[in-house]
Amino acid sequence: MHSMLTPRIEINLEKISHNARALRELYGSKGIDVIGVTKAVCGDPSIAKALVKSGIHILADSRIENIRRMRNAGVQAKFLLLRTPHLSQAEAVVKYTDISLNTELSVIERLSTYAVDCDHPHQVVLMVELGDLREGLMPSDLDETIRRVLELESIELIGIGTNLACFGGIKPDEDKMGFLSSIANDVEDTFGLTLKFISGGNSANYNWFMSTKDVGRINNLRLGEAIYLGRETLYRNAIPGLFTDAMTLVAEVIESKIKPSMPYGEVCQDAFGKIPEFEDRGQIRRAILGVGLQDVLVSGLTPRLVIEIIGASSDHVIVDAKNADVRVGNEVEFDVNYGALLSAMTSLYVNKISSDRVNAQEYCEMVEQKYRRHMQRLPAIDIKEDHSPLISLNESGFNLIFEQSIITDYKYMVREAVFDKIGRISRRLDDEDKTLIIRSVWRSFGHQKLLWEERVSSLKTEYPKKQPEEIEELVSYFIAPPSQSMHSTGGAVDALIYDLKEDCVMRFGTNDGFKINLNDKCYPHHPYITPEAKGNRKLLISLFEEEDFAVDIKEYWHFDYGNASWAIEKGNDFAIYGIIEA
Ligand SMILES: *Cc1c(COP(=O)(O)O)cnc(C)c1O
Repeated sequence: MHSMLTPRIEINLEKISHNARALRELYGSKGIDVIGVTKAVCGDPSIAKALVKSGIHILADSRIENIRRMRNAGVQAKFLLLRTPHLSQAEAVVKYTDISLNTELSVIERLSTYAVDCDHPHQVVLMVELGDLREGLMPSDLDETIRRVLELESIELIGIGTNLACFGGIKPDEDKMGFLSSIANDVEDTFGLTLKFISGGNSANYNWFMSTKDVGRINNLRLGEAIYLGRETLYRNAIPGLFTDAMTLVAEVIESKIKPSMPYGEVCQDAFGKIPEFEDRGQIRRAILGVGLQDVLVSGLTPRLVIEIIGASSDHVIVDAKNADVRVGNEVEFDVNYGALLSAMTSLYVNKISSDRVNAQEYCEMVEQKYRRHMQRLPAIDIKEDHSPLISLNESGFNLIFEQSIITDYKYMVREAVFDKIGRISRRLDDEDKTLIIRSVWRSFGHQKLLWEERVSSLKTEYPKKQPEEIEELVSYFIAPPSQSMHSTGGAVDALIYDLKEDCVMRFGTNDGFKINLNDKCYPHHPYITPEAKGNRKLLISLFEEEDFAVDIKEYWHFDYGNASWAIEKGNDFAIYGIIEA
């Protein structure tokens, strides 16, 4: 089978958009506007477009190359240059950007010259030094600089700003922000002007924002890391409600062997001039991944499997695979930190795969790889069983349509919390003249076995020449063996929607009424289904996601809550529903 290129960074645009929207809402609640910073993703146009779609109207980057890349790709936004412009690049700055952050008068003078020449006024924000000791005018020099800037032709001073926590690690706190506000007031008084932008900082300003009673004059933040990685940057804590796994680095296992944990022979320098040291763990399973320091800052990777990175060279990462099943050809996923994201996006050797750009084949391969990794992790998920009972939906009184089951007196049982969730979903559909169809919920081992056998016999008829093992493999493609089915937890729900106005089951792309054809177009976000089917899947999936279910990796109609699949998809440490056999 043709496989997707590795190493690659998978970019989940939906998660990035969600984060961008959530941050805009949060900061917007106190009058702070969010600028989207694209430097960590090298101005990737599909990410930039996702930010714009999320309501961000100014994009900022430290590099003109990235801004040109976004402009050329037709990204509709205002562009701000973050890094103090190079004197030598003044012409390009005027040509390709709308706003720049500045600290040097000579540079602004040069910008003015080109702005006059090109008849293209340029807006500037003056950066003020507040202690982090990267860019910024000392506050005592600000007035004199402003006086001179105001005299320049075709230059419009639109605001002031500061940047903390990037270089000196200095915290943007109440004092620093209060000081910036007071500077803004003084400038406006002294010069009789109105500053449009008081740009207080970056992703590190989160803690200040959450704890302050009054944001003062601060009305703007420039956010990168918080959008992509869902974290504030003073302590790298996750921001509630944001995804921390929108970016995934994927590498492939190229060697997997039992070997000693200690190198043997005389120890000298390694590839980077260090004398390496290792811990003796005896014989271990060592896997080598086809990714190295030329691809990514390896120290910024965190494996999602229980494996440990022992070391790396330019082209190899060596891991202690522990109990994980890492065979040659398997793919391994990592979370990335800021440094790893930056390096992976910049490396020529790392493929950038964003969720809107994949074609059908790539999408399906991604889903299947993800499914394999998911199945590998499943047995290791902790279950803290909450012992909630199974309740039948039959006598719930909710408006539901029950699809006929192969079990004669099937009771349509779910866990208590799932019961309530189905009730709420059902009521929301009532308002739209639609009814939730419940296909299947809790299944006993016997029920699951019956499904398995039925599928085996139907495939035998369909493919009379196939061997029993091949048939089993085909069956396992969509039906889990009894002991692995999430349906035995009472947390899984198979559902469709009935449209009362049209008096038919809605069309989801692979179904004809109640009957679903099992093929790869069942993967929830398959690109080659009709727009109608896409819209209907979106409705179904969002109803369940709003109730904290996770949609299955392969089946758009299957939703999990509380069980091990749910725990993996939601990034939770443990599941609350284990198996209930009968
Ligand atoms: C990089 C940068 C930002 C964004 O920082 P994050 O930590 O990614 O939010 C903001 N402002 C300036 C001047 C920057 O250089």
